[in-house]
Amino acid sequence: MFFLLKRVIKKDPFSILELMRCLSLPFLLPFLFLSINKVCAQKEHSMDHINCDTAHFHYTDYADSLSHFMQRMGNKKELKTNDIRLKTAFYLALSHYPELHQKKITLRLKSIPSTMQAQPDASFLFKRRVKRGYHIFVNDNPEPTGIDYRELSFNALVGWLGHELAHLIDYSSMKNRDLLSFVTAYVFDKREMRRTERQADRETIKRGLGVQLLDGAHFFHKSKKVSKKYRKKNKKYYLSEEEIIADINKNCD
Ligand SMILES: [Zn+2]
Repeated sequence: MFFLLKRVIKKDPFSILELMRCLSLPFLLPFLFLSINKVCAQKEHSMDHINCDTAHFHYTDYADSLSHFMQRMGNKKELKTNDIRLKTAFYLALSHYPELHQKKITLRLKSIPSTMQAQPDASFLFKRRVKRGYHIFVNDNPEPTGIDYRELSFNALVGWLGHELAHLIDYSSMKNRDLLSFVTAYVFDKREMRRTERQADRETIKRGLGVQLLDGAHFFHKSKKVSKKYRKKNKKYYLSEEEIIADINKNCD
């Protein structure tokens, strides 16, 4: 610092501005460092911003749990896949939605333009609400989206399935007539689609799967393989990572 001072005075003894700049530099450096550090930490998906339980689900802890889960929650559930990891993640997510334990739910792999999709069975118009069935589709063709569900961590998989189950909570609360207008609005009204998707994200967080949802969102944003169209859709309709974190903090005591 003294060397710098000496140089400034020697160069122009009357340059007060230069002198001030020189003096402030060493004081500004720590702040500059702190700011850079803060930006970098956000990019690293730090859980430091979350003030509550951030425990992750690890598949190794649940590798033997499928039969137990099926005994507990398997009534009226049809999981048409051989992927045991996916099945286990489904039941783990389902354990956060006790209202759905007696509902008819089918899960199957299908080529769809998103990673997952939840919908009522097409026969719903001719059935009583209690008899209604629901489908969850998981995309097994990563070509259009760039996302392969098999690359998601077990924790993130539980989060994304939790989001789909949140949709089923919404659907199961509607009468046939309301569900029909809802489905029509969802398809044709982009604002309705945004409202529904963000609502499903919020419900997932309320059910205690916020950290799992955040893991999924982080995987999505970090992935370089996601198609432009899918990335744009995600930004438009779903909660951002920052919004998920804010909502997790709001929901934990
Ligand atoms: Zn959704």
